Amino acid sequence: MSDDVVLIVGGGLGGLAAALALARKGRRSIVLEQAQQFGEIGAGIQLAPNAFHSFDALGVGERAQRGAVFVDELVLMDAVGGERITSIPVGEAFRKRFGNPYAVVHRADLHDALLDACKESELVDLRVSSKVERYEQDNKSVRAILASGNKVSGAALVGADGLWSSIRAQVVNDGAPVVSGHTTFRSVIPTERMPEDLRWNAATLWAGPKVHLVHYPLKGWKVFNLVVTCHNDAPEPVTGKPVSKDEVRKHFRHVHPRAQQIIEHGEDWKLWVLCDREPVQNWVDRRATLLGDAAHPMLQYFAQGACMALEDGVCLAHMVERHGDDLNAAFVAYNKQRATRTGRLQMASRLVGEYVFHPALAKADVRNAILRSFSANDYYDRLAWLYGSIGLD
Ligand SMILES: Cc1cc2nc3c(=O)[nH]c(=O)nc-3n(C[C@H](O)[C@H](O)[C@H](O)COP(=O)(O)OP(=O)(O)OC[C@H]3O[C@@H](n4cnc5c(N)ncnc54)[C@H](O)[C@@H]3O)c2cc1C
Repeated sequence: MSDDVVLIVGGGLGGLAAALALARKGRRSIVLEQAQQFGEIGAGIQLAPNAFHSFDALGVGERAQRGAVFVDELVLMDAVGGERITSIPVGEAFRKRFGNPYAVVHRADLHDALLDACKESELVDLRVSSKVERYEQDNKSVRAILASGNKVSGAALVGADGLWSSIRAQVVNDGAPVVSGHTTFRSVIPTERMPEDLRWNAATLWAGPKVHLVHYPLKGWKVFNLVVTCHNDAPEPVTGKPVSKDEVRKHFRHVHPRAQQIIEHGEDWKLWVLCDREPVQNWVDRRATLLGDAAHPMLQYFAQGACMALEDGVCLAHMVERHGDDLNAAFVAYNKQRATRTGRLQMASRLVGEYVFHPALAKADVRNAILRSFSANDYYDRLAWLYGSIGLD
């Protein structure tokens, strides 16, 4: 069993995509997930055409689009003046240009689409309550060492264990992620609670000094996803801590009343302090490699972290097929193929936060003037490197 099996640590979107991609190339995998059951947090996610190119490659394109809301445009609003700055139409012309839609999806629906496909495959062995602490390897195999003390053996190991990856600690050994100082609050509300004048079929972003607010419909318009972020120099990482509405409100007093409504109508707010990392060149340690947030965590400002994790899975399997039993060569080729594209997004996400989402005064005026001068085709041309393909050679 252990001769050719690939161990995948972590059953998030990235880990499941990798398992499915490997199965489509005839490779067996064991997914080791620390949680007692597979799942995702109850929030929305934006998916650009490159995510759907990956789902197509994984054979679940149709399933992934089930339950998705296909927005008409991506709207940028001025959170201080309250007016529309610009929008990117993502209707028919966009789909024609990039071959797939832009959509907003509930994370659980997306995760289920991948999980169901993995369950249907005889080549994917899904194991929960399997927290991996570290790995050891020799010239023939690799072993995942579980918190329980058990060992699971395979031919190679992929760390898809997210931002706080224990596998990365061994492969790269570069310490804790970088705390961005940006705090994000999330809420999902029934559509009837959303102010009527903001019920747009769009992914909308209100950009203001050191803050931005995002909303879009989800689950066939049954709910709205709200994500509001402030750059408040938060010093410590935090994940999903419940907070009061007052705690959210106090960071957004300087934005237009229309944008403030978003906070008033939110409920059960939860707080995250965002982290990312600088790009690194090497994600490979002989029979072990990294994927998704474990390899290249980024701020969510390009809405591409999960899209990259899916692409990683497809690319990894492509290289494993190409290099046959030389899994180290496959991992090196995968790393080489993915490093520039994902590193570019790690860097661009920080820049977008600073220069598009959070500027004030003169810098905000410059942003508005530049973005207002762009036509739809200007945007499409600038996004073609990202949306046009998944970057496989
Ligand atoms: C506020 C916010 C909004 C975002 N919006 C978008 C968006 O719109 N579009 C987009 O593409 N991306 C978005 N992202 C990014 C996206 O959520 C992540 O990039 C993506 O979920 C990463 O997937 P992953 O599988 O690599 O890691 P994760 O989703 O973190 O999965 C890791 C898995 O590994 C498991 N695990 C961890 N440690 C261990 C261990 N030691 N042993 C076993 N299992 C382990 C975890 O339980 C988990 O199941 C957003 C992120 C945030 C914070």
